[in-house]
Amino acid sequence: MKKITTLAFIAVLLASSGIYAGWFADEKKPSSKNQHSDKIYNLKLAETWPSNFPIFGDATKNFKKLAESMSNGRLKIRIDSKNKHKSALGIFDFVKSGQYDLGHSGSYYWKGKDINTLFFTSMPFGMITSEQRAWFEYGGGQELMDEVYGKHGLKSIIGGSTGNQMGGWFKKEINSVDDLKGLKMRIPGFAGEIMAEVGAKPVNIPAGELYTALDRGTIDALEWVGPSLDLRMGFHKVAPYYYTGWHEPGTELQFIINLKKYRSLPQDLQTILTTAMKLSAYQMYAQSEYESAKNWENMKKTYPNIQVKTFPQPVFDAMRAANQKLLKKLSANNPLAKKIIKSQSDFLQKARAWTAISDQAYLNSQSK
Ligand code: CA
Repeated sequence: MKKITTLAFIAVLLASSGIYAGWFADEKKPSSKNQHSDKIYNLKLAETWPSNFPIFGDATKNFKKLAESMSNGRLKIRIDSKNKHKSALGIFDFVKSGQYDLGHSGSYYWKGKDINTLFFTSMPFGMITSEQRAWFEYGGGQELMDEVYGKHGLKSIIGGSTGNQMGGWFKKEINSVDDLKGLKMRIPGFAGEIMAEVGAKPVNIPAGELYTALDRGTIDALEWVGPSLDLRMGFHKVAPYYYTGWHEPGTELQFIINLKKYRSLPQDLQTILTTAMKLSAYQMYAQSEYESAKNWENMKKTYPNIQVKTFPQPVFDAMRAANQKLLKKLSANNPLAKKIIKSQSDFLQKARAWTAISDQAYLNSQSK
């Protein structure tokens, strides 16, 4: 109960201070007619994650508590994890078909269904969380996401950020682009395509088999998340080089809503639903940063052989060139993709100039 009270307090604080005013601005005011109704609405949510998956699974639990508490019990949310629905990557279809009303997953998983969903999680060399959230809330990101998901009868809302993801665990040091040639690496999605462009061999291996694959040399490297979720996987025991990130600088999960269901709810419950989502996304970002800081301290102490590395500049140059080439290919014959890529690139340029003289300048001035 303490958590609910704290979150409710944060909600009131944020609303009253005007911070994140955009969170509350896009829905109409609750009608008094509906406010006094005591009808109970039962909603089912399917999540990509297995039962009790840390951090990502906490986000849906927080969402449920918030939505039920803020609606005074008029919303009842049932969460089905992967163990129950058996289809980690079935969330988009579940919610689109109405089999589930809500989902929690990652937008970039749906690129095979609609390539334009790719852009709403995190893009290689793209925005960090603070920049990307500014884009979502004020820079046109939510509107573009509405355009993409609306075509499927869906709405997508930010679902929690992991923060900047690490570049991954490598068994050998990467000193040149040549070192990437033939390198077998678990790195999914668009970043995997970039790695393939520069000569690596991206492979897809189920999460449960990753440690053994890395240990036995079936793969030479892998990326997962960051200390928040890497520690429990144990990769640091078999691959000592921990590279800093480039491919998922601000991974934002998503809540998916069936639009027909959403519109059938009283307006005050619609607002409660999206507000609870955004608050649990806010909470998940804080939790990710907290867990990463805590686990990294632990990893450094327990495994002093871990070496943090950053790719040399020529490697970044080659990957950036591959990124540009692939984005250009995505833009061709796809006006909506072109519009999203331009919106992200324009906003990144503007936001990064500010980040450079604010957070970046501050951190540089503090480094020893
Ligand atoms: Ca990752």
